[in-house]
Amino acid sequence: MIYKHLGKTGLKVSAIGFGGSPLGAEFGSVDPDEGRRAVDCAIDNGINYFDVAPYYGRTLAERRLGEFLEGKRDKIILASKAGRYDIADFGFSAERITRSIDESLKRLRTDYVDVYQVHDVEYGKRQQIISEALPAMFKLKQQGKIRFVGITGYPLTPLKEIADTEDIDTVLTYCRYNLMDTTMDDILTPVARRRGVALLNASPLHMRVLTEKGAPHWHPAPQRVFEVAKKVAELCRQRSTTISELAMQFAIAHRDVSITLVGMSKVRHVEANLKVVGTEPAPDLLAEVLEMIKPVANICWKEGLPENDDPGAVEKRTLGMERSTSMQEEREK
Ligand code: NAD
Repeated sequence: MIYKHLGKTGLKVSAIGFGGSPLGAEFGSVDPDEGRRAVDCAIDNGINYFDVAPYYGRTLAERRLGEFLEGKRDKIILASKAGRYDIADFGFSAERITRSIDESLKRLRTDYVDVYQVHDVEYGKRQQIISEALPAMFKLKQQGKIRFVGITGYPLTPLKEIADTEDIDTVLTYCRYNLMDTTMDDILTPVARRRGVALLNASPLHMRVLTEKGAPHWHPAPQRVFEVAKKVAELCRQRSTTISELAMQFAIAHRDVSITLVGMSKVRHVEANLKVVGTEPAPDLLAEVLEMIKPVANICWKEGLPENDDPGAVEKRTLGMERSTSMQEEREK
């Protein structure tokens, strides 16, 4: 495993981190035993960063991860979030954030979280994020319930602006640096580098677009993105590799990113992603693939309050209660 500095926190983190949203059945139902084996396999092979949130599976992912990590908590760096609880349920007040950590600690079966993040800042009023949510987290830091404070979100503009003025340790964006979209580097990366804020790149597989299986039905990108991805998958197969391997190689190679956070709930995915660490994409194949992607590259969609839209963002393909019914079923078990 390759380890990197997590900004100025003093922590050393594995180049790939374990994204916990699939454990909450966000991408379809998950066999809990397989999920546990995936977590064990990751820890046994040096992955030391686990990211989760109350939102994933509407607390299911935190509950499962808490169970799977029992007896192993001290081996890993644990990140969770507060502020987002459902598709359209947000709470960025100081009171909600303060209550949220205690709820998360209970589900995660621990007494501290290493990295605590304001989840999807684009859905909050900027004033409230800055004057309530973040100060509440700084207070939790003083109390020892959390060690470091971060923010997460999709549009890059609010992440960049908050990272530029507030005293945060980490900034996480998703679907903004991978084969389909590299705009993280135009907007966020320079600020993170200048401010010494750890940069976390989530969804290197573009939320499953860059896999053989393809996008889940709720994916917000336009259809034409999926069609190009299918052609890329076919080309990769012809070259005796896979689209996900190439996508992971591409993302992990980023020098300013501390952690590439990939969502996993299956041992075979953990093993495939581990195999990629330390390898490089074949230059000819990568060049060909980037050329194929060019007509649909850097298409970003709207998330959050309109004032937080990135320039040129397109309407989302689907809106509302679009998450999988399998997740609903698992929650009700
Ligand atoms: P992703 O791009 O990492 O894709 C995950 C999907 O790809 C899952 O269905 C998984 O089973 C599958 N997969 C993983 N490895 C594979 C492989 N080698 N071959 C084929 N399929 C594979 O998307 P993600 O899970 O949304 O993002 C990663 C993590 O980042 C999340 O789990 C979450 O922890 C974090 N994240 C945070 C935010 C936020 O804070 N706003 C948003 C998105 C993601």
